[in-house]
Amino acid sequence: MSAAIIDGKALASQIKADLQERIAHLKSKGIVPALTVILVGDDPASAVYVNSKHNTFVQLGLKSEVIRMPADTSQETLLNKIRELNQDKNLHGILVQLPLPKHIDTNTVIDTIDPNKDVDGFHVSNAGALMTGNPRFIPCTPYGVMKMLESQHITIRGAEAVVVGASNIVGKPMALLLQKEGATVTICNSKTKDLAAHTRRADILVVATGRPEMVTGDMIKPGAVVIDVGINRGADGKLKGDVEFASASQVAGAITPVPGGVGPMTIVMLLVNTIESAERLL
Ligand code: NDP
Repeated sequence: MSAAIIDGKALASQIKADLQERIAHLKSKGIVPALTVILVGDDPASAVYVNSKHNTFVQLGLKSEVIRMPADTSQETLLNKIRELNQDKNLHGILVQLPLPKHIDTNTVIDTIDPNKDVDGFHVSNAGALMTGNPRFIPCTPYGVMKMLESQHITIRGAEAVVVGASNIVGKPMALLLQKEGATVTICNSKTKDLAAHTRRADILVVATGRPEMVTGDMIKPGAVVIDVGINRGADGKLKGDVEFASASQVAGAITPVPGGVGPMTIVMLLVNTIESAERLL
């Protein structure tokens, strides 16, 4: 293996330690950053993500509440719960865990959250603020990726960046953030012809497709920085990324592992966004 491993777990721990001072300052002013997560249904992966968000908040002495609703909850019931939380002056962050059951319209739900409490950064006004270069809340996963690149002193300005995946929660905001820092960005999707021709040009390659190990070493430019956002549970119960680590790590200059890469960073950036939200009250 030649690639340096970008350790998301270690970086997340360091960021958490650095947040202590800001949390203490808020507490000295009588403010305890508070997050409420709504989980609708019983998707096992969602339950794991929600628990780890909750535990991280509690460990740092922040307030965290998880509201669990049954899978057959009506859209109106969910919207009313969000409207109620919007009014709660002691609450700084509201997050609805995705995916939602099919009978509920995700965009309507996200756009019902008060944009000032939308710590996931998915509300259309927060997405627009990011697009126009003046972000309020940056979506946690791409925000975490930017922190990882920063920690490795990767030059983004002028770099060829390729983002594989174009979702609203990962791929699109990722591309915008890289572009904002001066990269030349290509966004690929499932219809892209000759994906490898694009990925092989990338100095910075971010993969977020949900297709286990679809990017292999032969698709990577030697020395490239490879960020694997994918989290896929294999039949053997083990987590796999969207990049084939064994072959990619022979070619890349630096690579994120799965697990222990982007995942821990996503959770820590949720802390950052919630603390920033609380700090706006000062
Ligand atoms: P979505 O399913 O919403 O989007 C997947 C994107 O990948 C789409 O744009 C799709 O294209 C594209 N895609 C699918 N197949 C291919 C292909 N063969 N070639 C090129 N592009 C393809 O997924 P998410 O963005 O929500 O998540 C992506 C992955 O990241 C998942 O594994 C998810 O579990 C993981 N994830 C990890 C997080 C973390 O904290 N580490 C947080 C969030 C997600 P099209 O637009 O054409 O459909």
